[in-house]
Amino acid sequence: MRTGIAVLGGTFDPVHLGHLESARSIRDALSVNEVRMVPAFKPPHRNPPESSAEHRLAMLQVAVEGLPNIVVDDREIRREGRSYTVETLTSLRDEVGSEVAVYFVMGVDAFCTLDQWHEWRSIADLAHIVVLQRPGHEMKLSEKMAKWIEDRETEKLEELVNHPGGGVCFLELEQVAVSSTEIREALHRGEVPEGKLPGLVRAYIKCHDLYQRENSNAEC
Ligand code: ATP
Repeated sequence: MRTGIAVLGGTFDPVHLGHLESARSIRDALSVNEVRMVPAFKPPHRNPPESSAEHRLAMLQVAVEGLPNIVVDDREIRREGRSYTVETLTSLRDEVGSEVAVYFVMGVDAFCTLDQWHEWRSIADLAHIVVLQRPGHEMKLSEKMAKWIEDRETEKLEELVNHPGGGVCFLELEQVAVSSTEIREALHRGEVPEGKLPGLVRAYIKCHDLYQRENSNAEC
């Protein structure tokens, strides 16, 4: 039986196969009802995205088309302003109630910076934190975080299922070695990254002339 909701937040500038593979493997490992991909309107911890929120949202929508139980949740874009995860999870909790297990999924690179996020301890009370390995990224935790996870970490996913949130679990799932940065850089150079983008996203990028240094006047 499927139960619970997984949340995969990000800038998705653009969404790539690493994100989709993470969503698929999380859905299967956790047997959740839904994986929600939540694009940030304005990520608080990094430079502004290159593409508009509307384009990033549209790319995500075409990317998840036909993927069972993987959906796009546009609440951060509708909310506008800085996209604080604590606010996103609070509004999700209001929607799904206090009993449902919610899993906030992060790559290990993002997890290592969690203690710099707005109200980070509340994030981990509102949801379980599920950390995915990411090729090329090591886990380097601050002393504060290493101590903090001591009481929360579990090696067994099953132990999280019966609680709405509060746990931390590290998952070793196969991941795709790709980042949005390398895709943007390749596109800036006029290259088409092979095997890293869903086909419909590649077509969307071409059609809308995204990530180009100069307009190519492509036709959709
Ligand atoms: P950028 O290169 O612009 O920083 P990104 O590829 O890291 O982008 P984000 O949208 O910032 O993508 O990432 C959203 C979430 O997905 C983060 O938690 C990140 O760690 C995770 N993630 C991104 N790519 C991968 C990947 N290839 N494998 C596992 N996790 C990933």
